[in-house]
Amino acid sequence: MSALPSHLELVQGVVLPRPVGAHPVLDFVNTRSEWTTRGAARTEWLTSYEAFLIWSSYVGLLPPATVLRLIEQAGTAEAGRRLQATLDFRAELYDVLTGQATEHAFEATARLIEKAAARRHLVRSADGAHWELPEDLDLPLHDLAVRAGELLTGPSRAHVRTCPSCGWLFLDPRGRRRWCSMATCGNRAKVRAHAARAR
Ligand SMILES: [Zn+2]
Repeated sequence: MSALPSHLELVQGVVLPRPVGAHPVLDFVNTRSEWTTRGAARTEWLTSYEAFLIWSSYVGLLPPATVLRLIEQAGTAEAGRRLQATLDFRAELYDVLTGQATEHAFEATARLIEKAAARRHLVRSADGAHWELPEDLDLPLHDLAVRAGELLTGPSRAHVRTCPSCGWLFLDPRGRRRWCSMATCGNRAKVRAHAARAR
């Protein structure tokens, strides 16, 4: 068996990209390769609803026990529909985050975020209260949608940057990052620069 590149990890039988976005919503957007071409991705990591659930747990959004229960609940047709809705939301959200959304893409993103936010319940906890979404097959997408709404309207929005090489997104609050990751795009740029100097 060949070893995986260092920017990928095998999680419960699914290959996933290691988080580099410094925000789970940006890492969600980074679950396909090369946003610079808008056709089908060369590499798609959300290959099934189950892979999306495993990713949600991998980046710390859903507890593993919830993921197991949802995997058991998901019928094939329902899972396929949820996956398609997730991929559509990801594409529209990418355009919104990079300031290139059409009116249609913005409206679709906004309506899903509003729908998800409206499904939350305020639940009492020991030190006050917290928001909770119902545990059903929409949970992983709606959880991301609520967080996307917070990112879009919060102070971190101003720090979202796009990798000039692959189009992945990341937070750069100190203005010092250029690449999504030094291990991939940063390194490729270094190799290119070195080759140019050697000529
Ligand atoms: Zn990159």
